[in-house]
Amino acid sequence: KPMVAQEAPRPLIVIDPGHGGIDPGALGSHTMEKNVTLAMAKQLQKTLLATGRFRVVLTRDKDVFIPLRDRFKIARDKGADLFISLHADSIPGTDARGASVYTLSDKASDAEAEALATKENKSDVINGVDLSQQSQTVSGILIDLAQRETINLSSRFASILVGDLRNDTMMLQNSHRFAGFAVLKAPDVPSVLLEMGYVSSSADE
Ligand code: ZN
Repeated sequence: KPMVAQEAPRPLIVIDPGHGGIDPGALGSHTMEKNVTLAMAKQLQKTLLATGRFRVVLTRDKDVFIPLRDRFKIARDKGADLFISLHADSIPGTDARGASVYTLSDKASDAEAEALATKENKSDVINGVDLSQQSQTVSGILIDLAQRETINLSSRFASILVGDLRNDTMMLQNSHRFAGFAVLKAPDVPSVLLEMGYVSSSADE
């Protein structure tokens, strides 16, 4: 009787369109970050599904608010292999342009990365629920081995992503940075946050 090889399930990628609902995110002259991230997430889902190699789930497929920890909880509950949070930054009055990729660390790579994490983490404060206290507790998990392994995997994916993006789009200098992003704190799902560009730049927008 011939052996039948069990087919491994296709890897599950959870795509997280940043912001939503009462939290518009960064504001451009014609766009809101929450709409850019949702449109890109839907396009990325379509593109990945078309390869036939992945399963893809979005944390939101409409204009709703989801607290940051609920976003990575969706990835954990579904047993995701990879979590990608999509964002777009804004620094009005500058000509800042380009994409950058962030992974979790309890120590920020530079002041800019730290400021960006603080800005992105404000999403929960907007909804009237300040989770910064709980985030402190979670940062204790960073020393945990499982989390360290996850952080290594996240960094490896970030390097691949930066390398590929560089071929197609403008990137910030030091394209891979790290800081304490609350949305990246799943201890067991490799996670990256992609800032796709600047809505404050008319060219990026
Ligand atoms: Zn954002």
